[in-house]
Amino acid sequence: MDSTGYEKYARGQEEEFESICKRCGECCGSLDDPCRNLVKLPDGTYFCRDYANRLGRQKTVSGSSFRCVSIREHISLATLRQNCAYRQLH
Ligand code: SF4
Repeated sequence: MDSTGYEKYARGQEEEFESICKRCGECCGSLDDPCRNLVKLPDGTYFCRDYANRLGRQKTVSGSSFRCVSIREHISLATLRQNCAYRQLH
């Protein structure tokens, strides 16, 4: 596989991984004190308004600090929320 073919393959794998998310926002605090970047859509799903820069220090709506981590880190640390769709990978 050449580098262009590999990049296409890797992008497809990443899109497939991301598509597992049901956008419930629980990992971003939708059930209690959410991240300031969490936005609720009319259909009840959520998205991050600064997704590309989300990792690292962030603040919640009430002003508490927390460290945003990738969902892969949540999986490796077994800190996934109760209803998270990525639990099916365990
Ligand atoms: S808790 Fe899981 S399914 Fe819900 S938004 Fe976060 S990653 Fe997606």
